[in-house]
Amino acid sequence: MLTNPSTMQILDGKTLSVTLQREMAEEVDQWLEAGKRAPHLAAILVGNNPASKVYVGHKIKACERVGIQSSLVDAEEDITQEALIEKIQALNADPSIDGFIIQLPLPRHIDPEQVILAVDPDKDVDGFHPANMGKMALGIDTFIPATPYGILLMLERYRITTSGKKAVVVGRSNIVGTPMSILLSRNAPFGNATVTLTHSRTKDLRSQLLQADIIIAAIGRERFITEDMVKEDAIIIDVGINRIVDETRKSGYRLVGDVDFENVSEKCSFITPVPGGVGPLTVAALIKNTLKAYKNKLD
Ligand code: NDP
Repeated sequence: MLTNPSTMQILDGKTLSVTLQREMAEEVDQWLEAGKRAPHLAAILVGNNPASKVYVGHKIKACERVGIQSSLVDAEEDITQEALIEKIQALNADPSIDGFIIQLPLPRHIDPEQVILAVDPDKDVDGFHPANMGKMALGIDTFIPATPYGILLMLERYRITTSGKKAVVVGRSNIVGTPMSILLSRNAPFGNATVTLTHSRTKDLRSQLLQADIIIAAIGRERFITEDMVKEDAIIIDVGINRIVDETRKSGYRLVGDVDFENVSEKCSFITPVPGGVGPLTVAALIKNTLKAYKNKLD
């Protein structure tokens, strides 16, 4: 049922990401005109996961648009953990690299903790190293993980106030849900919310969600959050990316979020689409972190 159609606004991550990249390109141009070198991002891609290839491709294209250098380091699916860590150490030691990422997920035989620990925190533009996570939790300036950082940029540019609001984050992964809940609860811009972090053991998720002014969905389950779980005028940020079969598409599939967009969008005040919402902002936030790593090196 259409309850509030006139005020609902789509949070257009695609357009905002283009704007942010244009702004960053101007900043990079100024450095180049001043005779400085271009910033340089590297990405390690392990194996042949098609989605990972697409995500890395988006990141490399964004580097080109912003005018920064990028390098792709390929590794075979069966690379040993030791050999992968050697590749990481080589990037740590390479003075021409400002920052790098290791595209997730990694093959099962590799321990992601050991991989993250091997990254030089000063080059950790994904913000996953415990040193950077710790700084973030303490409110010390650092690299913020790209997806939560992209969401903060979205809140900032759409002038969405979080202070005093009740936010419910669904999903507690180290890369999205947990950092997001910390950021929203900090005494800082786009923080000061009262945050509930929920997960698969949460009892009666629906009653938690019905109290939420802001919902961040990072679950990985297609259209899991439905209209009856959302209060009127809520702000909905959908991080989920799920493939569903769609025989009308050439690819045979399409992407949907963790939120039932079609019905929830008729009830809320703001909502991110999937695709075209959080995803493009994650890429813009990664580039922002790379520029930060570059500037830190110059200081
Ligand atoms: P994870 O699989 O690491 O975490 C999923 C979380 O959801 C877990 O904390 C899990 O709980 C929770 N969960 C699962 N089922 C339920 C349930 N029934 N009720 C409540 N909570 C539940 O996922 P990620 O955080 O890595 O990713 C989440 C989604 O976001 C995926 O679709 C992913 O593709 C997408 N994504 C999108 C990005 C973007 O740029 N747009 C970037 C990163 C991810 P528990 O801890 O108890 O298992």
